[in-house]
Amino acid sequence: MIDELYQYLKSFFETSKLNLLHENYGGRRIFSDPIIGVARGDDPIFQKFKEVVGPEHLSPRELWLAEGQENLLASNLRIISIVFPYVDKIRKESKNVKKLLRVTLPAEIYSVGRNYANIFKQETCKKIIEFFNEKSYKAVAGMLSESFTIMVKGNFYSTWSERHMAFATGLGTFSLHGWLITDVGCNIRLASVVTDAPFKITQRKNDDPYANCLYYSKGTCRECEKRCPANAIDENGHNKIKCRDYGQKIARKIIARIGPILKPHIRCVNWKLRPPSYPVGCAFCQFEVPCMDKNPTAKM
Ligand code: SF4
Ligand code: SF4
Repeated sequence: MIDELYQYLKSFFETSKLNLLHENYGGRRIFSDPIIGVARGDDPIFQKFKEVVGPEHLSPRELWLAEGQENLLASNLRIISIVFPYVDKIRKESKNVKKLLRVTLPAEIYSVGRNYANIFKQETCKKIIEFFNEKSYKAVAGMLSESFTIMVKGNFYSTWSERHMAFATGLGTFSLHGWLITDVGCNIRLASVVTDAPFKITQRKNDDPYANCLYYSKGTCRECEKRCPANAIDENGHNKIKCRDYGQKIARKIIARIGPILKPHIRCVNWKLRPPSYPVGCAFCQFEVPCMDKNPTAKM
């Protein structure tokens, strides 16, 4: 069934209009073909995430039950994580940043791709749920759930971390700049679903959570740190607060330039719905770095 799911997803990525840039930016695809990984619901790593992400981070079974599904053992659940790699055109054109007096703006093509990604990821999750329902299985998605919220408690985190789900399924590892480095790099987006369909799991290649990052594995690189205009990366890792503040500065400028073609996004923060926002990303740390489009520690 995993091959069938993959072909179904690949076809959705090829045909969905939601995976297209605005015509002002060529109207072509935002994401190339997906990659998927599978973990078991009773993998002990999901309990560990309550320590490393935050106590309110949900296990797959907690999400399953929060969505009103049948009371199953965690071992009967599977987590399917999906990598959405940005197309080469966006990666190449993302070199064209715009330096203003107080802020550097990403290439508009990236901002549009990043903004349109939210709805495409949500629709992808809905399509996967349909896929399972047609086969008489059930599925739920963290990003579509009312139990999803961003927690702001000094630092901030969400109750369902797509990066951690992708790590659990063996799709990649964490890094100095805080993103997940997969076999197709860190310039990606992620989504996941939990299902009772009996999939075979994909093994993690490495239980070291930082194995794919050159800094953590070999003490070299730190290219992402040099590329961050907000000084949000240093040898201690990624500072989420500085990163968010810089992202907000960028968003104000980008919205003033291309607001009418952006799509709104509703976020839930500390369990309260916020007015629509227009996320446009930043991600200088993902471009022109050794981990942009590959795992730089992989043996050639
Ligand atoms: S640019 Fe280098 S140091 Fe930074 S995350 Fe990528 S591999 Fe690690
Ligand atoms: S997203 Fe932007 S501000 Fe945040 S770490 Fe990367 S380059 Fe720095």
